[in-house]
Amino acid sequence: MPGFELFGEEEKAEVQQVLDTGVLMRYGFDGMRDGQWKAKELEKALEERMEVQHAQLVSSGTAALTVALASAGVGAGDEVLMPTFTFVASFESILALGAVPVLVGIDDTLTLDPEAVEKAITKRTKVIMPVHMCGSMADLGALKTICQKHNLLLLEDACQAIGGTYEGKPLGSYGDLGCFSFDYVKTITCGEGGAVVTNNETYFKNADHYSDHGHDHIGVDRGAETHPFLGYNYRISELHAAVGLAQIARLDEFLAIQKEHYSILRTALETIPAVTFRRVPVGGEESYAFLTFFLPDANLAKKAHVALGAGGIDACFYWYDNNWHYFRQWEHLLEKKSLGKLSSEIYRQLPDYTAIDFSKSDHWMGRAVSCLIKLGWSQEEVERRAATMAQTIRSIV
Ligand SMILES: *Cc1c(COP(=O)(O)O)cnc(C)c1O
Repeated sequence: MPGFELFGEEEKAEVQQVLDTGVLMRYGFDGMRDGQWKAKELEKALEERMEVQHAQLVSSGTAALTVALASAGVGAGDEVLMPTFTFVASFESILALGAVPVLVGIDDTLTLDPEAVEKAITKRTKVIMPVHMCGSMADLGALKTICQKHNLLLLEDACQAIGGTYEGKPLGSYGDLGCFSFDYVKTITCGEGGAVVTNNETYFKNADHYSDHGHDHIGVDRGAETHPFLGYNYRISELHAAVGLAQIARLDEFLAIQKEHYSILRTALETIPAVTFRRVPVGGEESYAFLTFFLPDANLAKKAHVALGAGGIDACFYWYDNNWHYFRQWEHLLEKKSLGKLSSEIYRQLPDYTAIDFSKSDHWMGRAVSCLIKLGWSQEEVERRAATMAQTIRSIV
């Protein structure tokens, strides 16, 4: 997945152009910037590549989720349905707005289980937030139908699956709002950065203002701008946007490498009857950022994960025990540990997750092993890796 592996002359040249003008900020300083608008250019490039009307760059993927929710009017006490398997940013962005993260179980796609989603809807539910973990997507068709039936928003977290598609549409462009991260370990990187994409003019305008203190961005004098509503600072810098501008031009090259490496590893593992693969919803194509497979039970999955590590196969993960990605290890959320007092809405409405049955999530996560697909491997390295992985797994099943 990581674009940082292929950081080169193009990235340096883009950054140098910003350094030459000395204008490191994305807004204003029109006279000094010598025609350089890296953030605006990257937004245009994202709009084209993701086939959307609008893209708003922000400082991180977490900021993108927060801004996306805020732009759609999500606030105190609103409930947002999110999966048990994701990154901590999902609930952080919801909590930041005083809204309530409602965890919902996953199925063999390792993303939101549509049946569980429907059961979790209450009259306070505002948003369904699928997270396309590890390069593959949620069943977006089923989720959209639920959204239409209950008048809810569909917000796609495509941070780990940029370049994947569903029904021919780029992931992130299918829902009402989509979010990307360009942090250092994502498929393309800005160092730090993120983006909100949407075809909704109002959400876009709100995101544009909200991410810059509520400034209305009318006229050429920032000091004279009015503030239609409260905002915050989630701006990206020109330096970060410059790196991303070089990287997005290489996205399709990166995706082709991922697909090739993924296919070699998968072909090797497909020869083992005990190994099955994560289900990709009909109509979807992965970004091939990870190869994720199931062993027949949790013990074997744990064993396979340990054996792969011992055999020198790095960057494989057993997410069930992972502190960042599976809800059982989110003790700070489960125990409501915050530095200051949580808002009363969050405190009152946050479900007691220890009392909810997530056995279906446990069933799938417990059996899953996920291996990062790197861009920098040589053909020979991938083939050696494929052979070692297959041999290692065969020796334990
Ligand atoms: C990386 C990531 C984020 C947050 O991105 P940052 O840019 O690191 O804040 C959100 N969701 C998922 C699924 C991610 O992998």
